[in-house]
Amino acid sequence: MTTCQSWLLSTRIHTEEALFPAELWTAIERSHYMQSSKTFVMVDRPFWKDVDPDTGREVLSMTLTDRLNRATYLLDDGPDKPAVILLSYTWNDDALKWLALDADERVELMLHSLEQIYPGVDIASHIVGQPITVSWEADPNFMGAFKANLPGHYRYQQRLFTHFKQDKLPESQRGIFLAGDDVSFTAGWAEGAVTTGLNAVWGVVNHLGGSSAPGNPGRVSSWTRSARSAWTERVGLAVQLPVRAGKFHVAGGIGLHAVELLVAEFPPHFGGDAGHE
Ligand SMILES: Cc1cc2nc3c(=O)[nH]c(=O)nc-3n(C[C@H](O)[C@H](O)[C@H](O)COP(=O)(O)OP(=O)(O)OC[C@H]3O[C@@H](n4cnc5c(N)ncnc54)[C@H](O)[C@@H]3O)c2cc1C
Repeated sequence: MTTCQSWLLSTRIHTEEALFPAELWTAIERSHYMQSSKTFVMVDRPFWKDVDPDTGREVLSMTLTDRLNRATYLLDDGPDKPAVILLSYTWNDDALKWLALDADERVELMLHSLEQIYPGVDIASHIVGQPITVSWEADPNFMGAFKANLPGHYRYQQRLFTHFKQDKLPESQRGIFLAGDDVSFTAGWAEGAVTTGLNAVWGVVNHLGGSSAPGNPGRVSSWTRSARSAWTERVGLAVQLPVRAGKFHVAGGIGLHAVELLVAEFPPHFGGDAGHE
């Protein structure tokens, strides 16, 4: 069973090509992973709870901004104890802006950005220790933060998701199973890692000649093509209708995931073959 991000199967892991059908390799290679970065500093205490006498408000707040940092989160462990600031949490292009910079350069720019928002608040004087920064796309064991399907990727996702059902595969390609959020239709969430893990376990048990407990059938015991189509139609419709009604806004993280889900689940017969766009 493989549980790493699937790009690793053709890069850092030497994988025998004959193990997977060509269509599955295509799905793996065309996966799209989002970039993401986080930069943390430790501070002496949660000084942001100090009250500004001029405004009567705390001197610093959790901050969402169009500036470089995009999101700043404040994490405390009680008054007068060391605390942590996540100076910046970014995705995609916003994450790429940080990629070439080391941790100190990142912190310098992030503090400059915050200074424009909170003039006069001396964050630097509270920092203790060295900053910690992560760019998932620069980590050789990840190569990206999490998968996010692009328009037209429904077909690739379907190949990855359904690979654990191997009765139509030649014998030589059976017995290897993929699991992980990037195999699921809900990439970017831990839940998809769990559900595809369950599918893969079902695949292993089935491959070794086992079966589900009587009265508690595995989800694939009753798998048929028509059942699968009904499932994709239901999910596709459920997500498609609110989008068509304009209820989702792509500005926020939840909206973005909703639209990605729509793209992933969009049954070809509803919208034509999006892969040709
Ligand atoms: C910045 C960020 C924010 C997130 N926020 C949320 C959130 O708010 N809510 C949510 O539900 N999900 C969130 N996620 C997604 C969540 O982290 C993933 O869905 C989940 O971790 C995927 O689990 P996984 O087991 O599929 O893969 P991973 O957790 O990625 O585990 C794969 C493992 O394989 C290892 N590996 C790589 N190569 C090899 C090798 N050759 N041999 C052995 N091991 C190897 C890697 O080191 C890694 O530990 C976030 C992810 C990121 C990056």
